[in-house]
Amino acid sequence: MNASDEAAEPLLCSAKGCRETAVWALRWNNPKIHTPERRKVWLACADHREHLADFLGRRGFLREVVPVEELTEHDG
Ligand SMILES: [Zn+2]
Repeated sequence: MNASDEAAEPLLCSAKGCRETAVWALRWNNPKIHTPERRKVWLACADHREHLADFLGRRGFLREVVPVEELTEHDG
């Protein structure tokens, strides 16, 4: 461990009970409670991307799925 490292917290999958490192960011918006430009973020490991995207997609909330490295702001 190098204490001077500014290493970011590892981003973990948002799926319940999953502790895998996230590789995908699912950006979503619930039009009933969020303004249109607002984005919530769920993180997903490779195994849970489809499950979480499906969950959001069925509700019409999913806006985009991007590799987690492309996530610049973290407002989730
Ligand atoms: Zn996962």
